[in-house]
Amino acid sequence: DVRHGPILYLEDVSVSFDGFRAINKLNLTIDDGELRCIIGPNGAGKTTMMDIITGKTRPDEGSVWFGSRHNLLQMNEPDIASLGIGRKFQKPTVFEALTVFQNLELARATNKSILPTLTERMTGEIQDRIDEVLLLIGLKNLHRQPAGILSHGQKQWLEIGMLLMQKPRLLLVDEPVAGMTEQEMERTAELLTGLAGQQSVVVVEHDMGFVRSIARKVTVLHQGSVLAEGSMDQVSSDPRVIEVYLGE
Ligand code: ADP
Repeated sequence: DVRHGPILYLEDVSVSFDGFRAINKLNLTIDDGELRCIIGPNGAGKTTMMDIITGKTRPDEGSVWFGSRHNLLQMNEPDIASLGIGRKFQKPTVFEALTVFQNLELARATNKSILPTLTERMTGEIQDRIDEVLLLIGLKNLHRQPAGILSHGQKQWLEIGMLLMQKPRLLLVDEPVAGMTEQEMERTAELLTGLAGQQSVVVVEHDMGFVRSIARKVTVLHQGSVLAEGSMDQVSSDPRVIEVYLGE
């Protein structure tokens, strides 16, 4: 399912905090439309890697490219976001007093412009996109309900929906199934695998059962660089990976 080659390319990226190398000569290539899972023990550098991609953290060395045209190291955080790189943090942050629909409506603002107000006229295009997104995230029948009544899992889907309003090209998702029920996890697996193809999705996740259920390709980070990469079966039978996880 590789469409047009890599969408994201990190080469020999390193960053230190107070002399500690959190990311150490990291090389990573994500193909357009791919769903990639990133795993690794605590402190492996997963969060720092996401921070580097979104421009929150500047590496000391290396290069980071989005497609073949955008050198992300020459761009600031809002400009990187407006290229179509969306990030979902672990905790859901939806507007609880607003309806599901209104949350999606607010999320149509690009990162460059200020949030549009709810009184602003809505175009047919936005209405159509909200309908599409409601179907994708499975919340169509709840669209008039305040987001505050949603379950934890439904809030997570709504927040993914809010990112989808802007048709991102790359979604970075941090531990999407933490705290979810088994059923919510299955639905999240369907959602994320369904999104891949339309956009590239990078998922950082600790739940190995979940990773196995969605990932075609898994990258194992350890001490700030790639320890192993391949199918879940390949990486989970790699002696180096076993050692790192048993040693945790
Ligand atoms: P992971 O997400 O895989 O658990 P992190 O990227 O959060 O790993 O952290 C990698 C290492 O870098 C950890 O040892 C962490 O303590 C350190 N680290 C991350 N961010 C900072 C920071 N802003 N200042 C100092 N140390 C940091």
